[in-house]
Amino acid sequence: MFTDYSKILSRDLHVPSLEDAQKALSKGLKNVFAEVSVDIVDCPDLSAEPFNLACKGLGGTTSVVEVGGPPYLLPKVDRQKVYDVKDIVKAIGLQQCFVIGAGAGPWPFIGKNAEMVANVYIDGNNVKSLTHIAKLKDDGTNNIEVSVLPNTETRFALLANLFFSEGVQSKVLKVHCKKRTGSDNFVTAMRNALHDDFPDKVVGVGGAFLLKSGKALQHVMPDFSKSPLNSDEELNKWLEFYSMSAPLVAVGTLVSSDIPELDLRVQHFHSFSSHGEAGHYHQDTTPNEVEYLGYFNLGQKIYRIDKPPLTHSWGRD
Ligand SMILES: [Zn+2]
Repeated sequence: MFTDYSKILSRDLHVPSLEDAQKALSKGLKNVFAEVSVDIVDCPDLSAEPFNLACKGLGGTTSVVEVGGPPYLLPKVDRQKVYDVKDIVKAIGLQQCFVIGAGAGPWPFIGKNAEMVANVYIDGNNVKSLTHIAKLKDDGTNNIEVSVLPNTETRFALLANLFFSEGVQSKVLKVHCKKRTGSDNFVTAMRNALHDDFPDKVVGVGGAFLLKSGKALQHVMPDFSKSPLNSDEELNKWLEFYSMSAPLVAVGTLVSSDIPELDLRVQHFHSFSSHGEAGHYHQDTTPNEVEYLGYFNLGQKIYRIDKPPLTHSWGRD
């Protein structure tokens, strides 16, 4: 269990006006989608259908939080790397926090390696967890099993890319795209759009998007590999890939560029559903019929926790 929160790194992110972010996204997303609309709106109630998040909004104090990283999984797993979201919230000085994002599930609780779709509200010791877990079934097949972590389980393992907010109402960016004409996925398209308009700055974004129609290529990690995984090729052979169906709700973060001394994973979204599918989002596989609807807010700060001392560039797709 990781407990040393004395060495948290942090930076202020560049926080453009929502209008400037809107302009950047409207322009850049048109390189990838045939129909694009980006608006500044009052956040709808994200705790209701179809998003089903643990809080209504993404407002208040916001931050992008990266914990651990792929070097703790690859080439060999470090089983000591287990973190508690409650400890992190406390360590960065917050009392209450709405946490969404992508990470690895708490293997000591689940019994094996798993994907985590973080979706939890923490207020001191009070927890409302709608965090979904996707793992391979224990029957030896590659069928997946999706469950929700109880309020008593707020741990995760190895790595996570999280968006922290107060879960309250605010203005947010509403991003609606249909029909993909480019090769980038929805998240990469947003990231490139922000990078193009703010080339020398680092803009951080977190939120949720709905894959409203179509299908997506997603992976679920099987249990830890017994042999070391030494390349992206070996990693991709080990991962299990699935074609998952809309509606899928994805949560996570992106930063418009890396901050080299923080060694960031620049984008990471996991999605869940109410029809038994969840996993790590790669790309929709139905460009003609795909439709995305997302609500996003900007991060004010970035926190980097337990940055791996030895790093590599693979396992970040
Ligand atoms: Zn992932």
